[in-house]
Formats: sequence, C-alpha cells, structure tokens
Amino acid sequence: MTRAHRIPFNQPVWLGTEPERLAEAIRDNAWVSAGGPFGNRVERILSDWLGRTALLTSSGTHALEMSALLLDVKPGDEIVLPSFTFVSTANAFVLRGASLRFVDVDANGNLDLAAVERALGPRTRAVVAVHYAGNSADLDALLPMLGTVPLIEDAAQALGAKFRGRPLGTFGELAALSFHETKNLGAGEGGALLVARPELRSRALVLRDKGTDRQRFLRGEVDRYTWVDLGSSYGLSDLNAAYLFEQLGSRERIFQRRRQLCATYEAALGPDVTRIGGDLVRPHPDNTPNHHSFALVLPSAELRDRFIAHMAEAGIVTPFHYVALHLSPMGRRHPPPEPLPMSERLSSCLVRLPLFYNLSDADQGEVIERALEFLRGV
Ligand SMILES: *Cc1c(COP(=O)(O)O)cnc(C)c1O
Repeated sequence: MTRAHRIPFNQPVWLGTEPERLAEAIRDNAWVSAGGPFGNRVERILSDWLGRTALLTSSGTHALEMSALLLDVKPGDEIVLPSFTFVSTANAFVLRGASLRFVDVDANGNLDLAAVERALGPRTRAVVAVHYAGNSADLDALLPMLGTVPLIEDAAQALGAKFRGRPLGTFGELAALSFHETKNLGAGEGGALLVARPELRSRALVLRDKGTDRQRFLRGEVDRYTWVDLGSSYGLSDLNAAYLFEQLGSRERIFQRRRQLCATYEAALGPDVTRIGGDLVRPHPDNTPNHHSFALVLPSAELRDRFIAHMAEAGIVTPFHYVALHLSPMGRRHPPPEPLPMSERLSSCLVRLPLFYNLSDADQGEVIERALEFLRGV
C-alpha cells in the first residue's frame, strides 16, 4: 500500500472563520493583551457553561502553577498525584519545593482510589486528579476520602466531560483546563483556572497579574496599583482568546464530530483489539465523555511498538503517551513507596489514533484499514 499523504495525529481545529475573528480583535479592539474584550467574553461563556468561575491563563501548565501558589504549597508538603500524567502536573508543585507522592492508576489511566487512600498522610497538602483522556475516577468516592485535603483537578483534557452529570473541573477546590492545540478546543497555547471559592478568585487575579492589584485599579477601587503578592505573567493574549472564542461558538459541532469519529473507530476496531487480548481506554460508566482521545492498550510493549511502526510505514502517526513520571530522571527524585504496575503498563502498551475535528472520513478509513491489517495479523 502506498500513500500519497501523511495522516497526522493532531491538527488544530480549522473552522474557516478564524481569520475574520482575529482581524476583528486587532482592528476593532484597542486591547490585544490579556483581559481584553474577547478574553472577557470567553471567561463568561466558560463560567456559564461549567457553572464555576473561569480565569483564562496563558496555558494549562500556568493554571496548575497558579493552583500551587494559591494553596501556598511549600517545602515539606506532599502532593499525591498519578505517575501516568504530563510533566506539568508534577512541575507545578516541585517549583514550590513540594515532595511528590506518585500513585498508580486504573486500567483507563485514572487515579486508583485505594492507592490514594494508602498515600494520604499528615503532610499531604493536596491530591491531584488527572482526568485522563477526558474521563475520570469515581469522584463521589474520592472526595469523602480526602477530608479537608483539597482536590485539584488537572482537567486539561476534560473540557465538556462530566461525572454523574456534573462537569469535570467543578469537583475540586481548583481545576486547570488547557487550550493547547492538541486539546478538543484550542487557542494555540492557553488554559483556564476554575476556582471554587471567591477568596481564591480575588487572589488568583493578583497572581495572574504579576502579583499586583492592577485589576482593582482598573475597576477604580484603588488609585494606583502596586506589588502585593507573588505572581507572574499568567494572562492570555486577546488574540489567542479571539481564536478560542470562535471555537467555543462552534463547540457542539466540534464535539459532535469527535464523538462520531470515536464511535466509528470503536465499532471497526474494538472487536479485534479485544480478540488479541488488548482493550480500549474507556470512560467510567458514570462519565459523559468528551471524546478527547481514542487509545488502544495492546497486550505487550512489543506489539505496541510494532503497531506504531506498521502505521508509520503508511504515513500514519499513532503516538504512545506518557512515560510514567516515576521512571523519568526528575521523577526518580520522588521514589514511590510501592510499585506502580498499571502506570508502567500504560506507558509501554498504550497507543493513540489520529483524532481531530478536521479528520476526514476517507483518512479515518485509511487509519482503520491499516490498523485492522495489523490486528488481524497478530
Ligand atoms: C495538555 C496537558 C497539560 C498542559 O497544558 P498546556 O496548556 O499545554 O500547558 C497538563 N496536564 C495534562 C494532563 C495535559 O494533557
């Protein structure tokens, strides 16, 4: 089989109307930095949609860093988090001097609740739930286990997904969303912090604005602004917000297309994947998924690597995902007290298929054909 073109793993959403929106942001608005008109509109849409205050940030990574600052995480504190996650989940807390307590995940990449329970201790400052692939653990079981320890949600992949009808990102004290181009909706780079309590919201506005009370100054509450707290430059440019605004307006269409692509993959590949002893990454039965990812877990690392090579020969990009953090050079500084077999298994056996709004039926058909060729040869 020879292919005329390459099928990438991801492409940023292209609706066609983005250039107009960007032109509008530049031409009509006297404000293209953070806190501009598009940013304000996007924050309102997100807050109304999710039912929680949303503050736009320059990235999901920065929303996580703001979470660590807002909780005053300091040396001596312990953060419980999965090892199977993106580096930003860990870095945000290591930057504050915290120690990491890596725990294992379930077969679908979400927190193993029994492992969380074993990891909690007197120094636990926060637990981070990473909603892998836009799915979640049983959050109604997790929350009571934590007592007064705050839950932070790394909801970078979870926008629009729910657990028992409630949006992911609204269970914790704080949650981070990402609008990186690889997520369901993108701003190029961008993110948002979701904040449960009003006190944390006012402090978050200061942290995002370089540790100044400039927001109060802009509202006329103080006659000059000054340095009042820690902070950094965590705001999102209004150009990125305009680009994101366009996609938020079309989110039903974008999510619907992803749902359809996932259903097609599952019907075509599911039976052969299970026949060879593998499985699909699946949502918890109480999740309403957002179809962020379509991932296979193959029965061995060797098969997974051969699958990737087989697809690559046809010009189809099917990446694996996280290298379990406890095995990374930085992660080794925080050795977990127990083995994390599922994190290591997902690191070596998981593979993701191309999934993005503009993926055509014809291209998806080629991905399926080539994948079936492999699976049927096992
Ligand atoms: C994408 C992602 C991040 C980081 O988001 P950025 O916006 O790229 O900084 C953090 N955690 C998880 C789980 C992610 O998938």
